[in-house]
Amino acid sequence: MPHHRLALCKEDFLSWFERYTERTIKEFRMFSKEDKVLVAVSGGKDSLALWYVLRKLGYRADGFYLHLGIGEYSERSKEKVEKFANSLGAKVIIKDLKEELVGIPELEKVTSRSACSVCGMLKRYNFNKVAKEHGYTVVVTGHNLDDEASSLLANVVNWNTKYLGRKYPVLEEEEGFVRKAKPFCKFTEKETALYALLRGIDFIEEECPYSEDATSIFFKEILNRIEEKFPGTKMKFYLEYLRKVYPKFRERKEGKVQPCKVCGEPSPAEVCPVCKLKERIGGVKIIKDGA
Ligand code: SF4
Ligand code: ZN
Repeated sequence: MPHHRLALCKEDFLSWFERYTERTIKEFRMFSKEDKVLVAVSGGKDSLALWYVLRKLGYRADGFYLHLGIGEYSERSKEKVEKFANSLGAKVIIKDLKEELVGIPELEKVTSRSACSVCGMLKRYNFNKVAKEHGYTVVVTGHNLDDEASSLLANVVNWNTKYLGRKYPVLEEEEGFVRKAKPFCKFTEKETALYALLRGIDFIEEECPYSEDATSIFFKEILNRIEEKFPGTKMKFYLEYLRKVYPKFRERKEGKVQPCKVCGEPSPAEVCPVCKLKERIGGVKIIKDGA
């Protein structure tokens, strides 16, 4: 690991990885052993490894799986999650998007947004809602350094300053939002994959069929090419953003959100985008003022 100036054997790597996760949790004051942690699991290497490490470190961490209705891919990933929860002896909450709405493939056809954009919105909405309904104090996701740095690069290229004020390893709870944290944000994708493999975690290797279109893959490749030539750039790019740029653009949601009139979740308008989507496909009727 040239960016850490470390070369470790299997056993040392596993314990280094776990200690480093604990250090990141403490560095950003993400949560404590008193918190009830909900791990958003997809069946992939990052989220399952995160769930494993948190429980190994003694955190009270349960899983949440959102079934996206993406054919065989969703079925297989759900099976992996259920099997993994059993092996951990941990609780997993499973919610099927089709019970309230329809799956991602159908949604992609009725909206002008890409599958990933609708999917991202529904994931954020459900992670927050389910966590509150079940009394969890923090939602954690398995985003790694490659995810964070590539999305940062894509947003810098477009000078999306709104993004620059929102992305941080921990986002405090405020106005209807539970706290969110990313304890793997300082690990590269290679490191999380290696940890999952060495621990024998049975994760879903196939990618979501929509991920081929994802712009993030393109930006990840660019960053990997820079990293090859200048080791450590990826980490520096992300950490210096956290230190120097985020504080300048940081924005609070105060006054910018209100409870949605239909579901009560925090929303930028009277009715949240998810309820609007539901109405569009005939799921719920939106009650307007005085109606
Ligand atoms: Fe959702 Fe896109 Fe990720 Fe597939 S690749 S799970 S559609 S965000
Ligand atoms: Zn709503």
